[in-house]
Amino acid sequence: MKFIVTGGAGFIGSAVVRLIINNTDDEVLVIDKLTYAGNLESLSEVSDKGRFHFKQIDICDRKSIDMIINDFRPDLIMHLAAESHVDRSIDNPSTFIETNIIGTYTLLEAALAYWKSLDIVKKESFRFHHISTDEVYGDLHGTTDLFTEKTPYSPSSPYSASKASSDHLVRAWHRTFELPIVITNCSNNYGPYHFPEKLIPLMILNALEGKPLPVYGNGQQIRDWLYVEDHARALYLVATQAKVGGNYNIGGYNEQKNIDVVNLICDLLEELVPNKPNGVINYKDLICFVTDRPGHDQRYAIDSSKLYHDLGWKPQETFESGMRKTVEWYLKNSEWCNHIKDGSYARPRHGIF
Ligand code: NAD
Repeated sequence: MKFIVTGGAGFIGSAVVRLIINNTDDEVLVIDKLTYAGNLESLSEVSDKGRFHFKQIDICDRKSIDMIINDFRPDLIMHLAAESHVDRSIDNPSTFIETNIIGTYTLLEAALAYWKSLDIVKKESFRFHHISTDEVYGDLHGTTDLFTEKTPYSPSSPYSASKASSDHLVRAWHRTFELPIVITNCSNNYGPYHFPEKLIPLMILNALEGKPLPVYGNGQQIRDWLYVEDHARALYLVATQAKVGGNYNIGGYNEQKNIDVVNLICDLLEELVPNKPNGVINYKDLICFVTDRPGHDQRYAIDSSKLYHDLGWKPQETFESGMRKTVEWYLKNSEWCNHIKDGSYARPRHGIF
């Protein structure tokens, strides 16, 4: 099969591409603008494979997208390209509106025109898989209820509102124009190649340098965490096996308070890196509480039983095993981290692909 993966140089997109290239005979074309969050070094493991291709394109650029789709002729499009960081969406919502809403609309139009041009057999099997977040549901205030596929949308941040808008567009293109789509909404991911502005890598890398570990508010906010490779397996399954119009929640059944996540990172570092930076006696002494994020959601928790019942997916990692793998990965891959710190990951790499 031939996949187009938008956002394939990002955190989750690169995990999907590595999974497909390393475990199947499928061919993948990554479309990515390479914003600050896109990193070709996250694809270096697969970049010399003949079944891997890369185009640096903005998903809002309809002309280029049309050309690439018509030239490559994909069986599936997996759409992960997005602006994804909530704090950045509060500081500067406009790029979120542009990429997440206009970009998704542009891709839908291009995918629809391509789909209409296919013969009847290819038309039947084509899928547009839109990858989204559980943050579209807003937050939960009780301790036991879960987001299901039927939970009404109630996004809180510019990020989640832009993702909710894109989900609605995708559904509308299915209902009105019959584009064969599937949608997945997933909880917080963690794992290797995560950009260091996000909670888990930020805490690991700050602790290793003896810098403060800033926790929003009182740290009691609850998130459900899923190891990124478990998410990538779920996405491949849904893209290739779900029925048209299908919509799946994906989660790890791993609810954790933010402060407990940070404490676990400190415990793992105590064990794995007992030689601490100068002046640090316990990693936990670096924890400090900072002013809460405006509109901060209190609790996310997700019911992914539909995906389990329909397609047999369940996560392979527990939070403890996934976190241990993650911390070990950051310890072994200081070069990847250093290239982000010194900005060299973002320099043009002509001729690499
Ligand atoms: P990321 O920020 O790590 O990667 C996004 C990628 O999209 C980057 O490679 C970036 O260069 C690319 N991109 C951004 N704007 C673009 C544009 N205009 N044109 C082409 N490429 C563009 O994000 P991620 O964490 O990998 O998330 C991927 C998708 O999964 C997003 O749609 C996000 O909403 C969703 N999601 C993320 C999480 C999570 O915990 N990270 C959870 C659930 C859903």
